[in-house]
Amino acid sequence: MNTRLFFLSAGLLIALSLTARAEDVAGTPLSAWQPGSVDIHQISTGRGNAGLYIFPDGTTLLVDAGELPAKTAQHTPDRPDGSRPAGEWIVRYIRQALAHDPQPALDYVLLTHFHDDHMGGPSDKSPASSSGAYKLAGVTQVGESLKIGKLLDRGWPDYNYPQPLDDAATKNYRAFVKWQTEHKGLKVECFAPGRADQVVLCRDAKKYPDFQFRNVGANGEIWTGEGTATQKHFPPLETVPRALWPHENMCSISFRLSYGKFDFFNGGDIPGVSPKGRPAWHDVETPVAKAVGPVDAAILDHHGYLDTHNEFFVGTLRPRVWTLSVWDAHHPTAGVWQRLQSTEIYPGPRDVFATDLHPDNRKAIEGIDKLASQAGHIVLRVAPGGASFRVVIVDDTSESRRVTKVFGP
Ligand SMILES: [Zn+2]
Repeated sequence: MNTRLFFLSAGLLIALSLTARAEDVAGTPLSAWQPGSVDIHQISTGRGNAGLYIFPDGTTLLVDAGELPAKTAQHTPDRPDGSRPAGEWIVRYIRQALAHDPQPALDYVLLTHFHDDHMGGPSDKSPASSSGAYKLAGVTQVGESLKIGKLLDRGWPDYNYPQPLDDAATKNYRAFVKWQTEHKGLKVECFAPGRADQVVLCRDAKKYPDFQFRNVGANGEIWTGEGTATQKHFPPLETVPRALWPHENMCSISFRLSYGKFDFFNGGDIPGVSPKGRPAWHDVETPVAKAVGPVDAAILDHHGYLDTHNEFFVGTLRPRVWTLSVWDAHHPTAGVWQRLQSTEIYPGPRDVFATDLHPDNRKAIEGIDKLASQAGHIVLRVAPGGASFRVVIVDDTSESRRVTKVFGP
């Protein structure tokens, strides 16, 4: 190489390193979140769902903080390991991911629904909170350790749809909400479908006008896709036999995050494939898909369980990337896997990323080895303006944050 060319190349390298974001490389720690980017972390704990979202201005959102109170042989292992409860691992993961922030906090926490694997269920071993008013498990552990700006759920303030929510885990969560609102000034709101102003950029909204968080559905009330209008998908309870009342998963919150041309969908545990004898309105995916339309990436509803991902839903959302939060041997099920793979339902390439895969499922599902990843935290990194995104897999067997794989541009 002649001297002139060398200096030109060196100059170009310096210019690139100043302007381009640090690339994630396998074997090195995950690079820090960059202003203007959206990061969506699917945190792998083996005990339920937890997703950390960092918006372009640094606003933070935690969607769910699951902690199953007990494990069976049908479950996948705890991650990184069983030495701490899931809530503690989630808090530690958040602190690492928000290391750019001198005072890491969650501007929003959103619970898709009131099940242990999404909000945390206390066990006999769960410690009491410092106030003694509730036990620490999942979201209550998160709220004990990190400041929460606003909490959104599907039940505030009465927690009585379709009937009073007073199982042990929800009672514990309600005790947490009561104590935190009375003593710590926690703000709580009921998630209102159709609106796009309940989760907003709270640090520098003006700089990113093409970011939007759209509430899609909850409790059977579903956005129509027009303005903020919604429709009631469930009939009035008094017209329905009690055995057919909407169950907890059907009431899950769903939302769409948009940034420029990038769209992401999360539907909690909504079902879309009903067993025989169930009324058609037990399919929540279909009206949700009509409102949401095509997206670039989506998390599998209900961990890819057999009551989800009907053909209309899969073909309407038609994402390039599906992510899957796994904690048992039925995540995903064979029928769901086949529909996700079908190029008759929608053409073109797609990749499915799972946080884990149970050994039984590895044997049971034909073609499951096509999973793009079957171990680790899944981090979607959306470039400034939403122009492109990639998927980074991070080792979940320790807190090293070591990148294991990188996909995309
Ligand atoms: Zn679940």
